[in-house]
Amino acid sequence: STTVAQADPAIASALSAELHRQQDQIELIASENIVSRAVLDAQGSVFTNKYAEGYPGKRYYGGCDNADVVEQLAIDRLCQLFGSRFANVQPHSGAQANTAVMLALVQPGDTVLGMSLSAGGHLTHGAKPALSGKWFKAVQYGVRHEDFLIDYDEVERLALEHQPKLIIAGFSAYPRVIDWARFREIADKVGAYLMVDMAHVAGLVATGVYPSPVPHAHVTTSTTHKTLRGPRGGVILTDDEALARKFNSAVFPGAQGGPLMHVIAAKAVAFGEALQPSFKTYTEQVVANSRALGEVLQAGGLDLVTGGTDNHLLLVDLRPLGLKGNATEVALERAGITCNKNGIPFDDEKPTVTSGIRVGTAAITTRGFLEEDCREVGRLILDVMQALRKDPAGDARVEALVREQVQSLTSRFPIYG
Ligand code: PLP
Repeated sequence: STTVAQADPAIASALSAELHRQQDQIELIASENIVSRAVLDAQGSVFTNKYAEGYPGKRYYGGCDNADVVEQLAIDRLCQLFGSRFANVQPHSGAQANTAVMLALVQPGDTVLGMSLSAGGHLTHGAKPALSGKWFKAVQYGVRHEDFLIDYDEVERLALEHQPKLIIAGFSAYPRVIDWARFREIADKVGAYLMVDMAHVAGLVATGVYPSPVPHAHVTTSTTHKTLRGPRGGVILTDDEALARKFNSAVFPGAQGGPLMHVIAAKAVAFGEALQPSFKTYTEQVVANSRALGEVLQAGGLDLVTGGTDNHLLLVDLRPLGLKGNATEVALERAGITCNKNGIPFDDEKPTVTSGIRVGTAAITTRGFLEEDCREVGRLILDVMQALRKDPAGDARVEALVREQVQSLTSRFPIYG
């Protein structure tokens, strides 16, 4: 057998460089994590060769016995993890899961109500450039001016006014707990389906560290690669048997062809890991770490949107230091710290500039960072920002010093040993 290094030196070199980047940088992108070796192995397995259109026991191809074992285990473990009756583990991604739900529940031209991108929602929740915004009459809710929290009264008012067929709750950048029961109440009032997209907090939901939407929503979707720490992918959960059948048809043959059985094998492994007691400890540490990091950033003069966090992410308002998201993201990367610029609610800056950054602790907590390490990360971030305040091009000397400290931190917590 030929290795990647023998067959394709250009790709082998990029793979090796990427491993080193992940090893040497402090990863604060809130939607990322670091999967186990077992998840990597399952994903890089012979299942990549297999076509298995259909579902366990009802396939359109021969030779699917092993695929059936893997997919059924993934389904059973996922249902156990979230206390759900039915699950579809085939969506190739979070966006595909949300698209399949829309295909099942609404028609083009129907009204859907979701959280706006600028307030922390996702593209698939009705944003203009996305399918959800183009094919449906998308009405968007936001957050309150005073405290940046979801305005449930506004959600209810918009629901009563526009009578959506589908209400979408969930977020990519919202640091607080959501009142799922209130969303369901609003949906019931107007006879809408409630879809919760728990992509960001799924890992925390699995262990009870964040309130579960699953008992409240008609359907819950998620990605598998964020706090849940699995391979890149999507899932759909419901307790309603008739809806479950609709979602299965909407995923295949509605929106997708053959399932990615190697990814489903890796999902099964990750769900098995998330069922272990150690995963609960991990998710508790994720939240403790984001709070510790947030406190240091606040003490350094930055504002946190909503004043803090209940989950793995912080939305940092850079305006008190007079900085922009784009320049800050780039300066931090030069110093070995990766995050993303992010608009804050009611941001005056363009999405390519922004007044904020989003940071999350899912990946560094997987490496073993504890609160004290996160405080250190906070101090390093502030060093880079203070230098950037003085010189818009950044201070190469400060950034090099921070890079050295990043190096000494990351080498204490190696990945894939
Ligand atoms: N839903 C939410 C809330 C997300 O944050 C994301 C990804 O950032 C997605 C869906 C889309 O997932 P994917 O990138 O796997 O399509």
